[in-house]
Amino acid sequence: MTIECALSAPADRAGAILTIDLGAVVENWRRLSARLSPAPCAAVVKADGYGLGAAAVGRALFGAGCTRFFVAQLDEALALRAALPDPQILCLGGLPARTDSTFVHHRITPVLNHLGEVDAWAAVCRERNTALPAAIHIDTGMNRLGLSPAEVDELSADPTRLTGIGLDLWMSHLACADEAESPVSGEQLARMTAAVARLPKAPVSFANSSGIFLGSAYHFDLGRPGVALYGVNPTPGKPNPMVPTIRLDARVLQVRSVDLGMTVGYGAAHRMPRAGRIATLGVGYADGYFRSLGARGHVFVDGVPAPVVGRISMDLITVDVSGLADGAVVPGKLVELIGPNRPVDTVAEEAGTIGYEILTSLGRRYHRDYTGGDAGKKAV
Ligand SMILES: *Cc1c(COP(=O)(O)O)cnc(C)c1O
Repeated sequence: MTIECALSAPADRAGAILTIDLGAVVENWRRLSARLSPAPCAAVVKADGYGLGAAAVGRALFGAGCTRFFVAQLDEALALRAALPDPQILCLGGLPARTDSTFVHHRITPVLNHLGEVDAWAAVCRERNTALPAAIHIDTGMNRLGLSPAEVDELSADPTRLTGIGLDLWMSHLACADEAESPVSGEQLARMTAAVARLPKAPVSFANSSGIFLGSAYHFDLGRPGVALYGVNPTPGKPNPMVPTIRLDARVLQVRSVDLGMTVGYGAAHRMPRAGRIATLGVGYADGYFRSLGARGHVFVDGVPAPVVGRISMDLITVDVSGLADGAVVPGKLVELIGPNRPVDTVAEEAGTIGYEILTSLGRRYHRDYTGGDAGKKAV
């Protein structure tokens, strides 16, 4: 006779549960595609798909028809290639020394960021007698990556330096696309238009998420959205045209009565202004719940707000639930940190940062629950 031993499920053990709606990511890609049409829409999945999981997001978007994916680093490209054998994967970080064989072997398209890399890739193409694809980044004002104006001059004077390369894309990146009124975007657009007019013909990619909303002049031949796919508002100050893709619920570990004048947490930073109840939740700064949310953030219990009080600990936060009905907050209950009542953009505002950083900081300890898309078939 055997004794049935029911082990706990990960969702029961985790301090918090991150629900990722791949169907919503696909919906956002479709909305961006519709806006960009007839130009196609790529997907930027760097930083592990902005924290949501590049492989899961990549599979869902490939299933929906996306055929071009951008990552920042070669290791990200290799991880994505293992999940997605077919689509084009472009690597924004250039062509580091001694990596060309890895690019070729795994069919990763480098984004060449200066003339040295252009020359190196041309040599690789000649050696292998193959026009291997590459994108070339032109700097139009970021002063971060890409060919400088002097390098554009040099290349337009001697376009034979491109000989052998399978020139796939000219691209540039906007500095102020999220500020619709900024004159910088128009200046960059003018520089890009002038630059590509002097260079051999190839498709052009210019717009990130917010750039797509600056109008069709910014669309060229390929959109390159990242953050909007994941539900962050690409049009700050205006209603969000995207749908939310994540929710984060933390578990109540304990609820305690605390007297007037007692303090809560590290530094005794919060003193109870009246007797009340404190709920302790199983999430902290080690999970990407920003320390700056201490005494500023809000969580929602069955749709009712409760303030985060005291400092954020590594694994815990404390919430004043005195205003909630007795019995509404009990150990084991899940409380909304990000979700319909607290969109990522609002949490970012409370934390003094941007939605990008909230997403890319999402913790590794969360139990991740993928829904929608192809999640049922294959998660992560
Ligand atoms: C990150 C990145 C993008 C995507 O930007 P979003 O603002 O997230 O849409 C596009 N292009 C380049 C070069 C990037 O580095």
